[in-house]
Amino acid sequence: MKSVAIIGAGIAGSVCAYWCRHYGHSVTLFDKSRGPGGRASTRRWSDAYGIDMGVPYIVSDDIPADVRPFLNAAITAGSACPWRMIQHNNGQIMGIDTIIGSPKMSQLVRFFVNDVPMVTQYRVTQIQSQKGKWVVAAGDDWYSDRFDQVVLAIPAPQIPDIQGVPDTIRSQAQQMAWSAVNTVLLQTNRPVWSGDYDEDVWQGDVIQTVIADYKKPNRWQGGYTYAIHSTYKWATQSFDTDHPDTITATLLAGIRDRYAVTEADCVAHHVHRWKYAQVLGNNDYVTAAPGGVYACWGMQGTFCGSLMAGYYAAQEIA
Ligand SMILES: Cc1cc2nc3c(=O)[nH]c(=O)nc-3n(C[C@H](O)[C@H](O)[C@H](O)COP(=O)(O)OP(=O)(O)OC[C@H]3O[C@@H](n4cnc5c(N)ncnc54)[C@H](O)[C@@H]3O)c2cc1C
Repeated sequence: MKSVAIIGAGIAGSVCAYWCRHYGHSVTLFDKSRGPGGRASTRRWSDAYGIDMGVPYIVSDDIPADVRPFLNAAITAGSACPWRMIQHNNGQIMGIDTIIGSPKMSQLVRFFVNDVPMVTQYRVTQIQSQKGKWVVAAGDDWYSDRFDQVVLAIPAPQIPDIQGVPDTIRSQAQQMAWSAVNTVLLQTNRPVWSGDYDEDVWQGDVIQTVIADYKKPNRWQGGYTYAIHSTYKWATQSFDTDHPDTITATLLAGIRDRYAVTEADCVAHHVHRWKYAQVLGNNDYVTAAPGGVYACWGMQGTFCGSLMAGYYAAQEIA
């Protein structure tokens, strides 16, 4: 049995934790946020429900065969469900088979970390090898346990921020390209569009797509909720210059221009800026450095790519 520290409780870190436990290892999962999810997270909106803030769904046709058993297990457990989403795109209406978390996207990640010991609101800033074991720290706060292995399951561009990461991993992480997305969650007092579809794909300069979150199965029925996602290009170009208030105003103005909604129809909104929405640039799922440090690279910048990266990292540790 090995003791494993996994840094990052997105889908990669969570699946890695699940399989490491399955192989009999002792696992501690660290995340800087309040809970698991990462880029598959859900913003709390009412007592029991939220609005999906990151990846909105997984297209069934894009799911590699290797990933299907994982998602089927989550579906059987009630943590995910199929959703035939109706998309409006370029004047066409089409049905697309997808899988979503239930009752929220983050539940699909939570399924894998059910009873894994987790240290939340702990941003790891340093790892250090001491007498053949690894220790981790958040600032001056050194975590008490020592580990045989460390798995870095965080967006690659954030890996160089952690002191003590082996050079082989650091230099690969520094070469990765990233794209941002600005997301505004919106609640209105009436439907934004009257057509019978769930997603409106714009492919504009600023807004990429708008998803009616309340139309997903097992969601909150208390209001009309939407996730508005910007284009990668606009978000990446303006990430370091535009204030969140400006971003919110721009996206909401776009919504009011396109649909028959007024400011008075908008009940509540929340902006989230994803700096590393998509990270690309490595052709391996996992890199292992001497001494027992692993990095999950989330191949192709997709949810399924991260899931497989977490799985393969656990295989290497086993
Ligand atoms: C708006 C948006 C839309 C998307 N749409 C799609 C889509 O349609 N299809 C698709 O396949 N994919 C999509 N994606 C991408 C997909 O969500 C990600 O590829 C996948 O969820 C990444 O999982 P991960 O586990 O690799 O990383 P993450 O989910 O980013 O998890 C990393 C975790 O590490 C934590 N962390 C970071 N640094 C530290 C630290 N120093 N210490 C402790 N914890 C730390 C973070 O809090 C986070 O929880 C989308 C992403 C976004 C943001």
